[in-house]
Amino acid sequence: MTKVVLKPGKEKAVRLGHPWIFSGAIQSAPSGIEAGSEVTLVDHQQRFLAKAMFNPSSSLALRIFSRSEEEALDETFFRNKISQAIALRQTFLGEEQTMARIVASEADYLPGLTIDRYGDRLVFQITTAGMERQRELIIKVLHELFALPHLIERSDEAIRKKEGLSERKALIQGEASRVSCLENGLKFSIDPWEGHKTGFYLDQRTNRAIIRRYAKNKRVLNCFSYTGGFSVAAAAGGACSLVNIDESASALDLARLNLENNDLASVPCEYRREDVFAALRTMRDRGDRFDLIIMDPPKFISDKAHIDRACRGYKDLNLLAMQLLSEGGYLASFSCSGLMSRDLFQKVIFGASCDAGVDLQILEHLSQSEDHPLRLSFPESLYLKGLFGRLVAEKRASR
Ligand code: SAH
Repeated sequence: MTKVVLKPGKEKAVRLGHPWIFSGAIQSAPSGIEAGSEVTLVDHQQRFLAKAMFNPSSSLALRIFSRSEEEALDETFFRNKISQAIALRQTFLGEEQTMARIVASEADYLPGLTIDRYGDRLVFQITTAGMERQRELIIKVLHELFALPHLIERSDEAIRKKEGLSERKALIQGEASRVSCLENGLKFSIDPWEGHKTGFYLDQRTNRAIIRRYAKNKRVLNCFSYTGGFSVAAAAGGACSLVNIDESASALDLARLNLENNDLASVPCEYRREDVFAALRTMRDRGDRFDLIIMDPPKFISDKAHIDRACRGYKDLNLLAMQLLSEGGYLASFSCSGLMSRDLFQKVIFGASCDAGVDLQILEHLSQSEDHPLRLSFPESLYLKGLFGRLVAEKRASR
């Protein structure tokens, strides 16, 4: 077995269970190792640390898959890890819930592998060279464990480039056509071939249920609506009107279909194919008001250098939202950027509220659904956070 030696001190994070090692922590590694090869990690005194997948050309060079000397990247390994992940999802998959993330990469101890289930369609995504090498084995185990008629690969994430991999989309078996699935008893048409991610933002399931509880008789504005996940939930909860904004026409078409399929088409609903920033300004300037606003922008930051810019983006959006909210109205605001901490996000929302001259009472701290676990030894697995608050219009003494 190929050995990779870490520099003194660099073994600490490994011992605490963190699965990533950057190339700068490596003391020595044999040359000519193929990207994604299985290696044994040892400390500078040659003591065993872990088993990892090694990509010499990536700055994130090592991804640990096991801390046991006995485990190897074989069929038993994948069968065990994926079975464990399936078992965790049994608590909520059922008649009302036919879609879920089954494997969430590192959070399920399978770095670089994502598996989502949409009814009888299984979609997987590979983002690392280590997992790419095991692709055939993974497909075999997926057939065996799920025995589903449709298997689709959506390894079309730009992040693969960092691992020296090109993007791939493949129909392994069956069909990749749209499928109707249930989330909290509500029907959604999922497009596993063309949709974002693998088709749906499964991480928002619990937050959609929260929105449903607060939506009764509310005028709802859903910013970055995608296929209307929050709108369907709000309409089911008794919203009196809806506005969806998204720049994608196909997402808005699917949002319309999703409302129709849940017999909610009678709720007055507007579909605006626009840039959210511009649309919010237009609506503010003409004096529109809403009682519940959902703000779920795409990831703004993929690099630490962009945090300041991202903060300004989040602040602008949330300031506009607060200016559009009626007194006592609700704001559900999210950040799915892993590099934005919950603490910083709260500060940004506070900054927006100061500029808007209002206060927010936070009622719920929002996060990703339970099929996207937060692994304590891998804090990076927490990426989605949000605040749900009620707007209190404060009369400020003038300075
Ligand atoms: N809330 C959605 C997921 C949002 S994903 C859900 O629950 O399913 C982010 C969405 O923002 C995508 O649909 C993308 O098309 C849209 N988008 C990204 N930038 C945008 C912009 N500047 N203006 C409008 N829509 C945008």
